[in-house]
Amino acid sequence: MSVNDWFAASYAEAKGKFLDAAKGAGAELTSHPHPLKGPAGEDLALDVARLGPADAGRVLVTSSATHGIEGFCGSGCQVGFLESGLHRELPAGTALLHVHAHNPHGFAHQRRVTEDNVDLNRNFIDFSAPPPANPDYDEVHPWLVPASWEGPDRQAADAAILGYIEERGLFAFQAAVSGGQWGHPDGLFFGGQAPTWSRRTIEATAGAKLAGTGHVALIDFHTGLGPRGHGELIAVGAPGSAEHKRTLEWYGDAVKSPEAGDSVSAVVKGTIEEGYGGILTDTEATTIAIEYGTLPAEQVLQALRADNWLHLHGQVDSALGREIKTEIRAAFYGEDKTWCEDVWEQANALARQALRGLAES
Ligand SMILES: [Zn+2]
Repeated sequence: MSVNDWFAASYAEAKGKFLDAAKGAGAELTSHPHPLKGPAGEDLALDVARLGPADAGRVLVTSSATHGIEGFCGSGCQVGFLESGLHRELPAGTALLHVHAHNPHGFAHQRRVTEDNVDLNRNFIDFSAPPPANPDYDEVHPWLVPASWEGPDRQAADAAILGYIEERGLFAFQAAVSGGQWGHPDGLFFGGQAPTWSRRTIEATAGAKLAGTGHVALIDFHTGLGPRGHGELIAVGAPGSAEHKRTLEWYGDAVKSPEAGDSVSAVVKGTIEEGYGGILTDTEATTIAIEYGTLPAEQVLQALRADNWLHLHGQVDSALGREIKTEIRAAFYGEDKTWCEDVWEQANALARQALRGLAES
């Protein structure tokens, strides 16, 4: 089996490859069925494969498809971990937990968001308190979501966006759009108004599988930012925190930090890492996101706008719908052989660094 074979062309194929590889590796499997179906009526689930001793004090967790369609990347790497036998190299007292498809609905429907248009990586906030404000997003929201995708509305919106970028720069626009917002359910990077099915399922899974663990290392896979095929390591802990220092010790100076301003990612709130950290209050956590580049940032943002419009106002099963789906897939899945090999090489090195870090902790 070559690296390319680990990567799939659909959610259903990815799930099949993951389950086959997990069974082949002798993993203990747990499946959490999603209440909705995929576009072809296929079953959706968050699947968990556990390998290693039952009483392990240290666990390496890998997770895919926090952002639905980005799951093509993470799933391919998880299949690679299983097929290449990472579980046979575990240090004593260490287990592996591969969490497949945090957001299976988005993965199957080739969307970044969940079934309720929620960015799962902005959903882990405290909903009993007022949500964070994002006035910069409020300003650009009308341009991101034009009423029609072709014609004067769209042209006016594009012109307004270009004006904003010329005045304040592309990264300022990206930060306004992607920082997360909790006031526009029809918008982009919407964090939701309650915990989604995915959040509730992740919390139940982490609570059941990781409670009492001394140290958890989490690697969450993402795509869509940065140079094509390059995986940027994004630290979660604030600069200067014990977790951030540990992240640098384990993974080296390549680690970037949105808070420090040197990452391709804007500062975001309500992330999945906060979610795992929030559940595992008595557990030491060392979390990292790896963000692989695909296409230039302008194209990725454009694909997200188009997909948002499509699911609000358009028809997926139309010529324009299919065109938009092709665009969003290319924006979040590099797919060709070179990209998959580049992705795997970095993922493989990262998992080994994580195991070494855990062993020395
Ligand atoms: Zn992502």
